[in-house]
Amino acid sequence: MSGQPQFNRLALIGAGLIGSSIARAARAQGAVRSITATARSAATRRRIAELGFADQVVETNAAAVEGADLVIVCIPVGACGQVAEEIGSRLAPGAIVSDVGSVKGAVLRDMAPHIPKGVHFVPAHPVAGTENSGPDAGFAELFVNRWCILTPPPDAEEAAVQRLAAVWRLLGANVETMSAEHHDLVLGITSHLPHLIAYTIVGTAEELAQVTRSEVLRFSAGGFRDFTRIAASDPTMWRDVFLANKDAVLEMLGRFSEDLSTLTRAIRRGDGETLFNQFTRTRAIRRGIVEIGQDSPAPDFGRPHPELPHEPLPRPYAAED
Ligand code: NAP
Repeated sequence: MSGQPQFNRLALIGAGLIGSSIARAARAQGAVRSITATARSAATRRRIAELGFADQVVETNAAAVEGADLVIVCIPVGACGQVAEEIGSRLAPGAIVSDVGSVKGAVLRDMAPHIPKGVHFVPAHPVAGTENSGPDAGFAELFVNRWCILTPPPDAEEAAVQRLAAVWRLLGANVETMSAEHHDLVLGITSHLPHLIAYTIVGTAEELAQVTRSEVLRFSAGGFRDFTRIAASDPTMWRDVFLANKDAVLEMLGRFSEDLSTLTRAIRRGDGETLFNQFTRTRAIRRGIVEIGQDSPAPDFGRPHPELPHEPLPRPYAAED
């Protein structure tokens, strides 16, 4: 335990990769006094109880929020409105309600109408994850040195925003605040479009008649392997992301298609200069990402990264259990 508890009772609705990582990190950091968790299915609730990262596991979303001063909804974006409706009347006055959804405009639109006066609603998105799902996939270090973006509505109380920011910092994240609309545009290009491209390219390779499946798998280090990791991400979560962030994704996809046409034309015409200039620009972006510590410069040959999670981390971020 290393932090001063910021909240008395944290309620987690959904405890898969993100929810269970929050629970594990909050425990390791002493960020809250107790944790109540729930999930949709009895099988997941049983597994949460077995793993022991929550103090209590309850059967319904409404029961989970009873007496909680911080509620974090950690479920696919498409289910957030329905869940907000279920919990709305049971929220304690003064509580803070947040979420972790990868799209913010739709979450704000769907959840806000069900949050009563006197309860603070501060949506959030930790920009951290893996391609794995479920309560077994979480780990306490997931958010360390990653960004958590808060998208408070314009009338949000600043003190509530700061209290939530303090919790995310305790979990190891850097915090940034922006509007939901801007978030959806930024993540449209940095996360949603890359996932769409990965899902497409892996599907295309699968359907190629001239190249056998075993050749695709054997020679995947030629670039394909990195796409397969992204394309293994949870289908429910990503279906919801594309449905919920339709406008921004279509905008980014339009720009991407134009740029792809430019490169297609350059290849067809043997225009090496256009290709070389484009690849030089993009190489600089990669180097920038490494410089600000968002990835490791080490070559990745399919082994765990020395600088990425699952390795022991310096205190106060090392989990104690
Ligand atoms: P996950 O591992 O699949 O876990 C989802 C959890 O939500 C499960 O415990 C599931 O229970 C529960 N759930 C689903 N519908 C529910 C409902 N109506 N009521 C109560 N519980 C419900 O998903 P995740 O990766 O943690 O993603 C959760 C959210 O985080 C998504 O909105 C996603 O956009 C966002 N996010 C994900 C990542 C990532 O890399 N995965 C990164 C940042 C943000 P059952 O198992 O019983 O269905």
